[in-house]
Amino acid sequence: MFTRSLILKTSSLGFVQSTVRQSKVFRPLVSRFIAGDTLEQSLPATEALLQKGLLVTLDYLGENTANEAEALQAKQTYESMLKRISTVKPMPSYASWNKTVTDKTSDRRPPVPDPINISIKLTQCGLDQGDEFAEKNFREVLQTAADLGSFVRVDMEGSEYTERTMKMIDRVLPDFPNTGTVLQSYLYRTDEDVEKVIEWQARVRLVKGAYLEPSSVAFPEKEKVDEAYVKQAKRLLDAAFYPALATHDEKIIDELKAYATEKQIEKSRFEFQMLYGIRRDLQDSLVAQGYNVRVYVPFGDSWYPYFTRRLAERPANAFFILKSFLKG
Ligand SMILES: Cc1cc2nc3c(=O)[nH]c(=O)nc-3n(C[C@H](O)[C@H](O)[C@H](O)COP(=O)(O)OP(=O)(O)OC[C@H]3O[C@@H](n4cnc5c(N)ncnc54)[C@H](O)[C@@H]3O)c2cc1C
Repeated sequence: MFTRSLILKTSSLGFVQSTVRQSKVFRPLVSRFIAGDTLEQSLPATEALLQKGLLVTLDYLGENTANEAEALQAKQTYESMLKRISTVKPMPSYASWNKTVTDKTSDRRPPVPDPINISIKLTQCGLDQGDEFAEKNFREVLQTAADLGSFVRVDMEGSEYTERTMKMIDRVLPDFPNTGTVLQSYLYRTDEDVEKVIEWQARVRLVKGAYLEPSSVAFPEKEKVDEAYVKQAKRLLDAAFYPALATHDEKIIDELKAYATEKQIEKSRFEFQMLYGIRRDLQDSLVAQGYNVRVYVPFGDSWYPYFTRRLAERPANAFFILKSFLKG
């Protein structure tokens, strides 16, 4: 955890940022994690994943818009993505999902999972410019998605946004059941949020958490985060609507597979999720075993914050960068 926070702090320094952004040396490492600078460039990678039987969520990189114009541009990009992906692979009608979400007494068996959806960030929808402004943009994106039978996942950002994100989801969900969010096991509050999403019957993705957080809000010890993750994932498998278990941690994945088998939870009732470029072998082997696996595919030229979070998760990647710095 110490190395992770050191990497996150170092990578935010101005000179490190400008060197990594400009140097061509890092391009191969960047392109391992990012599918292209534009939506069109990311589509061949998306189609290749779909052909292998994987599911996809597309992410337009960027966060914390500086003004309303930037947020409106991001909103337009989200809408273009939704329109474009609907031509890549036909969606199963979201109407049946809507019914299962609103009818809490029914057997909440999901139909065939949506092959492609999108993941967005509320700070890219203008949250720093105000909740009302961001909500208006978010609702417009959700309306476009609903018209196309698509789903929009709201990524979870730093802890200063957690409560506002949860409140936003709570407000829009009655009108747009085609959305859901992400919970981070490193936060102390997450046990309670797990119960909230179960009550809402919203689609949730569970992750360990990728941001630099103080010990006042998040577990500093990795073992505690892993422990919380397993406990919360099991609770979601028991009671949530089509949860997404997003991790590359093979030990945890094995434990959750065994739990689902023991509790007779069918493979169609949840999905695993992983990031583009990470543990492709594991993605393929889970598909071969009959599990739903969705890959998070990012594109765009604002890749630096996403890229540094990936480095911090695996110090070996960051040491490659450090070596290049030392070599000059
Ligand atoms: C689909 C998806 C969406 C996500 N969305 C969010 C979000 O909205 N908000 C948020 O805070 N976080 C998000 N994350 C990131 C998450 O919080 C973790 O930081 C990330 O998944 C690493 O944790 P891990 O569960 O894989 O376990 P770890 O214990 O970190 O890693 C387990 C093993 O996975 C492999 N691995 C993990 N990361 C890497 C890497 N970068 N490069 C190479 N190998 C690696 C290594 O083999 C490692 O030993 C998302 C992750 C996924 C998979």
